[in-house]
Amino acid sequence: MLTCKDFISELTDYLDERTDADLRTKLEKHMAECPNCWVVCDTTRKTISVYKDHEKACCIPSDVQTRLLLAFEKMRAAKTKVV
Ligand SMILES: [Zn+2]
Repeated sequence: MLTCKDFISELTDYLDERTDADLRTKLEKHMAECPNCWVVCDTTRKTISVYKDHEKACCIPSDVQTRLLLAFEKMRAAKTKVV
């Protein structure tokens, strides 16, 4: 079973469709059961699409990715107690 931390760490790969089918299924299953991760995924997806529209780039620079992940971690930590 995937934890929220696993989900977050795989999220950018998932959104870039770089995960294998097995992992993808697990991530989707986690999202279906975890509203928090669904929100994080949805927000990240939108952020990425805005970024891509702006830059027409195929990937997010790692510093942006790190900042995004940190922001989401903080947001999540403020709202939920991670088990
Ligand atoms: Zn979760």
